[in-house]
Order: sequence, then C-alpha cells, then structure tokens
Amino acid sequence: MTLAAHFVSPTSLTADLVDSIYVGGRWVLGTGDEIETVDPATSTVFATLHSAGVEDVDTAVQGGIDAAHRSGWATMLHHERAAVLHRIGNSIEYNADRIAALQTLDTGKTLTETRALALSAANTFRYMAAALETMDGVLTTPRGPWMTMSTHEPMGVIGAITPWNSPIASDAQKIAPALAAGNAVVAKPPVWAPWVTLLLARLCDEAGLPAGLLSVIPGPGRTVGEALVRHPDVAKVTFTGGTSTGRHLAHVAADKLMPITLELGGKSPTIVFDDADVERALQGVLYGIFSSSGQSCIAGSRIFVQRSLFEHFTNELVARAGRLRLGPGTDPSTDVAPMITLAHRDSVARMVDNAVLAGARTLCGGAVPVEGRLADGAYYPPTVLTDVTNTDAICQEEIFGPVAVIMPFDDELDLVEQANDTAYGLACGIWSQDYRRALRIAKAIDAGTVWVNTYKQFSISTPFTGLRDSGLGTEKGRDAVRHYSNQKSIYLDTSESPIAWGRN
Ligand code: NAD
Repeated sequence: MTLAAHFVSPTSLTADLVDSIYVGGRWVLGTGDEIETVDPATSTVFATLHSAGVEDVDTAVQGGIDAAHRSGWATMLHHERAAVLHRIGNSIEYNADRIAALQTLDTGKTLTETRALALSAANTFRYMAAALETMDGVLTTPRGPWMTMSTHEPMGVIGAITPWNSPIASDAQKIAPALAAGNAVVAKPPVWAPWVTLLLARLCDEAGLPAGLLSVIPGPGRTVGEALVRHPDVAKVTFTGGTSTGRHLAHVAADKLMPITLELGGKSPTIVFDDADVERALQGVLYGIFSSSGQSCIAGSRIFVQRSLFEHFTNELVARAGRLRLGPGTDPSTDVAPMITLAHRDSVARMVDNAVLAGARTLCGGAVPVEGRLADGAYYPPTVLTDVTNTDAICQEEIFGPVAVIMPFDDELDLVEQANDTAYGLACGIWSQDYRRALRIAKAIDAGTVWVNTYKQFSISTPFTGLRDSGLGTEKGRDAVRHYSNQKSIYLDTSESPIAWGRN
C-alpha cells in the first residue's frame, strides 16, 4: 500500500487504508486486480487496494448465510437487533470526522458535505432501529374459524450496489433497513471510492454486528457486481447508479424472478414563477445544481423561469455562480469541489462543448481550469447554458456535473408539458409564493420528490422514489424495513370440528 501526504495526518488515516476487503467476516486480500485510489483534488494516488474478484462474491454470500444461521440474527427479537443498529449509528456519529476526512480524500467532496453525509448515515441506522423496534405485526380480520396473521420474515442475503457520489449515505440507506429486517448484506461499493464502505464494515464489527453478516467487496461492476446480482442465493438487490446499468440489472433480476430496487438517474426541472421570493429562489436554485459539484441524481439541472422574470433571474444567477469558489474539499472556503475523476470531468466538458456546437450559449463557466492549483485536479466550473430548447440533448441527458440549462416559460400548461418532457422522473423544485399554484404543479409533475420553496433537503422518514427512467421501488421511510422482508400469512385453526369434506 502507498500513502501520499495529505491534509489529514497520514498516520490517522493509515488504519483505514489497509489493503484488505471484508469477506464473510474476515479481512482478506481481494482476489481481483490491484486498484489505485486517487485524490480528485490533486490527481495523486493515495492508496492501493486489491479489489474483490468474482470468487469473493460466493465467499461473501455463503458467509452471510452462515453468519445469519450461527448468530440467530434472523430470528433475534426486534429490540435486540435494534440495539446493535443503534450502536452502529452512534459509532458512525462518533467517527463522523474520520469518515468525512476519508470520504473527502476518496471523492473530492467538501468536508462540510461529507460530514453531513456521515451524520445522516448515523441517523439512518438509528431511525431504522426505531422503526424496527416499533413495528407491529398484523392480526387480520378472520373470515372463518381461524386466527389469521400477517408476518414479515427476512429474505436471506441482500446485494447492495452503490455509486461513488455519496458513499456513506447511500450505503446506510440500504444496509440499515436490510440488516434491520434480519438479513445478511453483501455491499459492493465502486472501485473509485471503496474506502468509506470498508470503514463502515469496521465500525459495524466494533459495534457488535455478528461477523459475516455484512461483507464489503469493492470491485468492478461488470464482473463482481454482475456476479453478485446473478448469485442464486442473493434474494434481493438494491441498486443505486446509472439508468442503463439499472435497466440491465432489471433484466437479470427478472430472469431470477428476484425483486430489485433501482435508484437511478435524473434530469430534474426547477421552476421559478414570477411571484417567487427571488432571493430565496436564487439561493435554492444555485444550491440545487452546483452543490456536490452537480454530481447528484437530484441535481436541479433544468431551470425554467417565467418569462417576465427570466432576464433578471438569469443575470443574478450567473453573477452568483461566477462568485462560487472552486477548490479542494478540504478548504473551508470551497463551494464547488472537484469531480470524482479526470475522466468524468472530461465527459462533462465534452457534453458542454457539444451543446455549444449545437447552438447553446455559455453564460458562465464552460472551460476546464488550466492554471494554478486547479490545473491538476478534476475541476469544472459552475456552468450555465441558455438559448436551448427542452428537446436538445443537453436538456435531456443527465450530465452529473455543475452544469445547468436555463429556459423561459410562458404559462402553466406550457411549463408542465416541458417539465414532464423527459425520460426521467426523480425530483422537481417549485419556487412560488402562491401555495395553491405550487401544489397544483407539484401534483402535475411526474417525479418521486417535489420541493416547494426549497431544494435537495432530505429526511430519512420520508420515502424516496424514482419514476420512469429514474428507478423502480422506494427507499427510506418506515416501510424500508418491510421492503427487505417476505410477507407470510399464517392461519391458526380455532374451530371445534375438522374440515368437513367428502365422506370422511
Ligand atoms: P454506474 O451505474 O456506473 O455504477 C453504479 C454501481 O453499479 C457501481 O458500484 C458499479 O460498479 C456497479 N455496476 C456497474 N455495472 C454493473 C453491472 N453490470 N452489474 C452490477 N453492478 C454494476 O453509476 P455511477 O456512474 O457510479 O453513478 C452515477 C449514477 O448514479 C448517475 O446516473 C446518478 O444519477 C445515479 N445515482 C442515483 C441516485 C438515486 O438515488 N436515484 C443516487 C446517486 C446516484
């Protein structure tokens, strides 16, 4: 393992950058290729890791089955399982700075953001513990001489596949409810950002989760991820990632008749009416697209502004975007941190260049920084494009970078038609002081989440769903634990006489 000098004392991170993955309760050298993990702020390699290989998948799945059996996790009383999840949540909170430092190193994100993600993961574990502990079973109304009940049983081994953009939060969103429901979990983080999920496994272990119940096997999607989804003993997969990968995995799941939850891409409309509180709208729209450097499935990347406000709003937005500070995630004054890799940054730049060739006008940003400390990292400046129509590629394709398109609209009908004219259906922002109108539009927009006069705010108690190409199924909320359970109906006979049938 190599470790480059970095903002956090290397010794403090060394323990979390050990070249081993967690398979079936053992820390082992992955059987896959050796990968280099790179700090996006400087493009320097800070550690190497033997990633998981296909054979680790089977060991992890079998390890999960054995651990569930050995530890009695599946049949443990709810409050006993909940106690372990509570301890994991508390441990995440206690280690929030350590998690944040590691995630910033691995993904480039600002420390403010990675710390918030760590705290949200802690809350997710504690919320799922509380949901589990307070979840009642159901006695159904009998329609005969029986006592009838509906119970929920663990499914077995859950495959949890996550992208690189918010590792600890998306891990927790899947792992916490799946464990709560009594399952074992095999988590497959991406090779680009494996370290935080591995650290989470350490914290789970220390918090008393029976060894083997959670395996973490960072590896390439096409081999390791695919083998996990195809494994005959994996009972359900929960996936967050790109739409084309998700669509492919839905086919694989269909062949196995296996349930799958898909949280996929987006191209979310943000709508500003001329009666909006303009100051709040500017702040919210700016945050909605440029926070996380736009590397967010819910980024408000298609901005529609009512024509009477369009010029003023656009000018102000562009001026403020120009004032956002591009810099490393470790610098407290940074607003927009680097992107995950140089390759991803270049693909964002290509999409913008193609849009300009097709007639779009760049109002700000639009060029890779080539000077100073930004030249080495995967930086791309906040970019706003106009003179586009909603059907253009730049308005329809997910960019996953700090790039917004801004368009005027004339009336509600025109607006709803344009906003819904997309393959995706993930999120929407509405800025208006007329709540009747906002609610009307909120209902008319095809999206799993709509924010009115705010954006990109989350609560673990509120379900999250993607419609159309943005996904299948729901995460978060109390019912999340149920989504990792098999429902079973039990009839207990209460009659005095046997079933009357035939001549017996
Ligand atoms: P991706 O689809 O390339 O990869 C996501 C994960 O899937 C990675 O762990 C990858 O290794 C794995 N994978 C890839 N091919 C696989 C296969 N054939 N079988 C099994 N696993 C496979 O996506 P990405 O580029 O890492 O992430 C960005 C995408 O994720 C964007 O489209 C973004 O919108 C989406 N996303 C969605 C949400 C949401 O909640 N809706 C949240 C975050 C990110």
